[in-house]
Amino acid sequence: MALSETATTPDATNENAEPRELTDGFHLLIDALKLNEIETIYAVPGIPISDLLRMTQAAGLRVLSFRHEQHAGFAASVAGFLTKKPGICMTVSAPGFLNGLTALANATTNCWPMIMISGSSEREVVDLMQGDYEEMDQLAIAKPLCKAAYRILHAEDIGIGLARAIRAAVSGRPGGVYLDVPGALLGQVMDEAEGAASLVKVIDPAPAHIPAPEAVTRALDVIKGAKKPLIVLGKGAAYAQADDLVRQFVETSGIPYLPMSMAKGLLPDTHELSAGPARSLVLKESDVVIMIGARLNWLLSHGKGKQWGAPHSTKFVQIDIEPKEMDSNVEIAAPLVGDVGSVLSALLAGMGKNWKKPPEDWTGAVKAKKDANVQRMAANLQNNASPMNYQGALGALKRVIGERPDAMLVNEGANTLDFARSIIDMSKPRKRIDVGTWGVMGIGMGSAIAAAVETGNPVLAVEGDSAFGFCGMEIETICRYQLPICVVVFNNNGIYKGTDKNPTGSGDPSPMVFVEDARYDLMMQAFGGQGVRASNPDELYRAVSEAMDAGKPTLINAVIDPDAGKESGNIGNLNPQSVVKKK
Ligand code: ADP
Ligand code: MG
Repeated sequence: MALSETATTPDATNENAEPRELTDGFHLLIDALKLNEIETIYAVPGIPISDLLRMTQAAGLRVLSFRHEQHAGFAASVAGFLTKKPGICMTVSAPGFLNGLTALANATTNCWPMIMISGSSEREVVDLMQGDYEEMDQLAIAKPLCKAAYRILHAEDIGIGLARAIRAAVSGRPGGVYLDVPGALLGQVMDEAEGAASLVKVIDPAPAHIPAPEAVTRALDVIKGAKKPLIVLGKGAAYAQADDLVRQFVETSGIPYLPMSMAKGLLPDTHELSAGPARSLVLKESDVVIMIGARLNWLLSHGKGKQWGAPHSTKFVQIDIEPKEMDSNVEIAAPLVGDVGSVLSALLAGMGKNWKKPPEDWTGAVKAKKDANVQRMAANLQNNASPMNYQGALGALKRVIGERPDAMLVNEGANTLDFARSIIDMSKPRKRIDVGTWGVMGIGMGSAIAAAVETGNPVLAVEGDSAFGFCGMEIETICRYQLPICVVVFNNNGIYKGTDKNPTGSGDPSPMVFVEDARYDLMMQAFGGQGVRASNPDELYRAVSEAMDAGKPTLINAVIDPDAGKESGNIGNLNPQSVVKKK
């Protein structure tokens, strides 16, 4: 993109030469993004990136402008998860940069590709700490919180700088990358043709990682020796977009599988080999576990202890693109370092035609446990209590999603998360987005926005009232862009429960409660969206179905019994307990 005709200069070395076309940092950055097929930017404008965003939009990219950088960042990271291309977030310097960092660190923790591009102040002033506007050594601060961090100082390096950021974000284990763009860089001018030649299109940004043949043979030997094998599918398997191979591997092997929350739908949750509803049994009793794009972190009790049936020990086969993930918590008997698609192809080839499925007493026991649990839960889901309990409300939402398999589901909260994860079945890959590895609250609105923008499908965001509070202002963004998002706030007046009291009897409410019967639905109306208050499951089902079909911004305030939840949902055991009783 050349600057206007006035932005030309005579060649200083030859007075008779034609004037040269010029370009600058703004245009080079936009051209570099376009060259690498980046189509959408999630951002909050301000000094020094306002013009950059205006020009980016003028150049035909989609720019979504948020109210707070954290949510622009969450959106970018979710875009990365859904598309396997780095989601781009742009922020202003110091405070905007810091606001976005939470999302950048979260993307890195979740292994999702994202690039946060932040404007920064003048290097000369920052480095001498002379007190610039929004002065901060952003590069140094970002470094420990992301996979890679770079700064571009010269316009001719914009092409290579962005290329490095893209490759770092998506290759190997994906993650968050920080790109520091001093304001002065954007204004730097250079020759147009030289600028164009300096841009880099990243070729094969995420090369396949083929596993070694010995590693495949070793893994198959371990799997063949199993009497009670189990597959665990994680969000890395969902990210890999090797959906057919995942299905083939599960079905050919005949091994029951447990989906981690964001792997739900890789195979439909109603699949006969799904062991989701028999989770405790399969973790405890399995003798060989094949981890596919899932980590043995806190979400799986680090692969050891009572939950895994200790003292009996489990043998692990692990498929992961990151070699350092192996033996992170327990010994991995058969590490398979590679991308999910390449590893599963190799395993399937090695399994051959005469593969022996697991013993029927194992698969039969898993199925019996699962059927019993599903039946027990089904009865609870039918209640029409008002105010609602979690089962009644989520029974209604389960129907809504069941009837719309392409809809995206976003889910956060404590009880709202735990119950929804087990109650709402998913039937297609990458339709569920939640709090991820950190269990971070506030991902809801950013995730919902990215889900709507990247897929074009209707989005249902099921939010605890506390979780919603971290990101609620972004409903203005949802209304402004008229996105097909229906937010359901599970309003139980508080954190975990809405019933805590201040034991001193003084004026302040307990730190755990909110304003009683808050009208979140009216907030939505303030921005021109639909706001509905639903007090029983029938009302909720009707209102959500309508909103999902209309594809209009809607917020439904679902009145939940303040006494229905429990402390920290399913992870109350993580709260430290005081043993000292003070009088
Ligand atoms: P979950 O929380 O669902 O268990 P995790 O985020 O803990 O999932 O684990 C995802 C794992 O997947 C990470 O260890 C990451 O390195 C790995 N991973 C990401 N992409 C790929 C890929 N294409 N192939 C193989 N492994 C991958
Ligand atoms: Mg609550």
